[in-house]
Amino acid sequence: MTGKKRVLSGMRPTGLLHLGNLHGALANWVEMQDQYDCFYFIADWHALTSDYENTGHISENKRDMILDWLSAGLSPDKCTMFVQSHIKEHAELFLLLSMITPVPWLERNPTYKDQIVQLESKDLSTFGFLGYPVLQAADIIMYKAQGVPVGIDQVPHVEITREIARRFNHFYGNVFPEPEAILTKTFKVLGADRRKMSKSYGNAIFMADSPEEITQKVSGMITDPQRARRADPGDPDVCNVYDFHKMYSPQDLVDETKSQCEAAQIGCVDCKKAMAKHLAAYLEPLREKREYYQNRPELVDELIVAGNEKASRVARQTMAEVRAAMGI
Ligand code: SF4
Repeated sequence: MTGKKRVLSGMRPTGLLHLGNLHGALANWVEMQDQYDCFYFIADWHALTSDYENTGHISENKRDMILDWLSAGLSPDKCTMFVQSHIKEHAELFLLLSMITPVPWLERNPTYKDQIVQLESKDLSTFGFLGYPVLQAADIIMYKAQGVPVGIDQVPHVEITREIARRFNHFYGNVFPEPEAILTKTFKVLGADRRKMSKSYGNAIFMADSPEEITQKVSGMITDPQRARRADPGDPDVCNVYDFHKMYSPQDLVDETKSQCEAAQIGCVDCKKAMAKHLAAYLEPLREKREYYQNRPELVDELIVAGNEKASRVARQTMAEVRAAMGI
């Protein structure tokens, strides 16, 4: 232990990360690695809870994910990055916790109910999908994490983890601390079509996109819907391109864009080009870092092995305590 508070978080490897993932979670992870003892994991078993039929992309997605993490600034010197399925103790703890978790706790999970409706094309009436909060609890308490960085909508997940840890401690003695939700500041990034940015909507700008891809995607972004012609004054406050300007462009350009748009002194085509340039410049150092690691696959392998080993040491120790507490 480093004396720092330990936090744990994971991501399902579903493909390249986009700006929504970057500003919604990853940027916080990067910030936190300086303040906490951070364990970050690739949740490949969790990827199976809803996508159990098509597993062909998981391996490639894991590679893309670690490259995205490194490009955003996660450093193996500052945090522990590991792969869930390499630490078999997660499966053992999941099994043991599943013995003590009442089914109604899982059935009332809001994400469970919501996803069953949202993803009606998939058969989610599986034991694994119902039980994924138990796996999540195992992931978290395995490392005796004191904190879990989450957005407000994920607080119920941390709550169920706390309940499961409490129940375990009640039956077998005090083994696990109850983790707290660390509410992180998040920016909601909308996609080119103004819906939530998401791979499945096909509206995402990826962290790894080239300047050309960015320019092309930005050119298709929806602007102020009332501004039909170049001569019409626009309203930047209802325009997604302007929201992007506020995130990526220098302040003087943001101010200028607002006044010029409102006075119809700038067209949307030029406005988008200017924003795309700054967005590409913002992502340039990330792309460079990604390329660096892409060209050195052995370095990436090494850091994953080192992260897995460190996680494994903690997991083995925890499971020894768990088995002793349960007398098995
Ligand atoms: S000029 Fe820029 S801010 Fe104004 S509506 Fe067009 S894209 Fe949006």
